[in-house]
Amino acid sequence: MDNTDLNYAELATLSPFELKDTLINIAAGSLSKPMLNAGRGNPNFLATIPRHGFLQLGRFAMQESENSWTYMPEGVGGFPMREGIEARFDIFVHQHLDNVGVKFLRSATSYVRDHLGLDVGDFIYEMCEGILGCNYPVPDRMLKNSESIVNQYLRKEMIGMHPFPGEFDIFATEGGTAAMTYIFDSLRENRIISPGDKIALGLPIFTPYIDIPKLNDFQLVEVGVNADENNHWQYSTNELDKLLDQDVKAFFLVNPSNPPSVKLSDDNLRRIEHIVSIRPDLILLTDDVYGTFADDFTSLFASCPQNTILVYSFSKYFGATGWRMGAIAMHQDNVVDRMIREQSEATRKELHERYESISTEPDKLKFIDRLVADSRTVALNHTAGLATPVQVQMVMFALFSLMDHADTYKAAMKRLIRKRNDMLYHGFGGQAPQDGNMVDYYQLLDVETIYRKSYGEEFVQWYLKTLKPNEALFRLAHEAGVVLLPAQGFGATHPSFRVSLANLKEVEYRKIGEAVYRIGQEYYAEFQKQKK
Ligand SMILES: *Cc1c(COP(=O)(O)O)cnc(C)c1O
Repeated sequence: MDNTDLNYAELATLSPFELKDTLINIAAGSLSKPMLNAGRGNPNFLATIPRHGFLQLGRFAMQESENSWTYMPEGVGGFPMREGIEARFDIFVHQHLDNVGVKFLRSATSYVRDHLGLDVGDFIYEMCEGILGCNYPVPDRMLKNSESIVNQYLRKEMIGMHPFPGEFDIFATEGGTAAMTYIFDSLRENRIISPGDKIALGLPIFTPYIDIPKLNDFQLVEVGVNADENNHWQYSTNELDKLLDQDVKAFFLVNPSNPPSVKLSDDNLRRIEHIVSIRPDLILLTDDVYGTFADDFTSLFASCPQNTILVYSFSKYFGATGWRMGAIAMHQDNVVDRMIREQSEATRKELHERYESISTEPDKLKFIDRLVADSRTVALNHTAGLATPVQVQMVMFALFSLMDHADTYKAAMKRLIRKRNDMLYHGFGGQAPQDGNMVDYYQLLDVETIYRKSYGEEFVQWYLKTLKPNEALFRLAHEAGVVLLPAQGFGATHPSFRVSLANLKEVEYRKIGEAVYRIGQEYYAEFQKQKK
């Protein structure tokens, strides 16, 4: 296939997902081998130590199960026994101290006792039963010790040194995306949001999130709150002040953002705090999956705890997308529960009936518990909750981070993605931008910015006027086998390429940079030819 075989006008009509697939197909058929797919956010790294811990815990749990009956048929085990479990665990640990996973478990249990003040026997028992998956998740929202530990993890990573009065609850979910599905469903079921309501979206944003509010089920009216590249991808005061509109029910954002990969500045955090002081009924729904990659991260959950529904995912930081592991956190004194209490008599009566089967006092059921119930259409509430082995691995990840006082893992993660970013810029002879709020999980290459410097304003204007949408991306795929995604698919206003720094090798990012440079040269040559 020649470049001229690509029908750019037709290709310009593809949906974001079709576009991605088409780019991959073109790149796979390109003369350059292998394909360099930097369209994927799935990391190519993963945390090993907490996985070793998980596997060794599995060994101990099997021993517990097989020893719990004196007589047992071949292949049949029993439940672990609570009594004496701590002593048996100690023996197991001392038998295998040369093992990385066992060493991790030993430190983890002493951390749980000394720093978190939990009962070690209860903890080990919960982990054993959990990893064996031999009981329904009870409590369904999250296992008890597991919740305490993940609570501390979220405090460390999302709140840090920020003051945080009061306590919060957690619902463990099958990833951050499942969390969003549950939240939108329950907000609607509980009449907190209704068709026709306005919802503000922090743009650009993760593409599927643009679609959720518009879905037939919700029919919300979207109000874009646009971050501007010229403002280092922060929101201007004017944009944020759109939230002052009383009709805007909620502000839905990703922080640090995807794709710009920039965290909210302190100024932005303060402005939102100010807006919430004027509009105490505003709901903030924040997806902070990339928060752990930022320097000194503070979530909106820390600065506006009563208004914020926090969604966190373990997918990216621990390289755990296949685990389906996320969490929803809500302050025990929050705006949604307040709204539910203040609903009209008729709505309260209706919701009383909805939740009657699971509570003797359905009116008092917290929103976070309604989320759990709604996740199984209420009636099947007794089978709700995240698979217990997944909760156990989540606890291992959380403890691994909590015990890492020097934040060695975090430093390694940041070095890894930032080095890749440097190599990308190195490839086209540029300097990676420096900004304390940048996280660099993704990099947006703004077409105007990168080409204006080398080829001037006149060329940039020609480029913007002459090229069909995404033409350069198809050409990159075709000529260099490079897959990048258009930032406009994420609701960005300027044409730019999103490069995921998550899943290729350093040298490959340099090659991508070089390809971007070459395409620019080719277009510049065409521009000059046309000028003559
Ligand atoms: C990758 C990503 C997630 C992860 O979702 P999971 O369902 O936990 O895998 C969530 N939000 C955003 C913005 C992401 O980019």
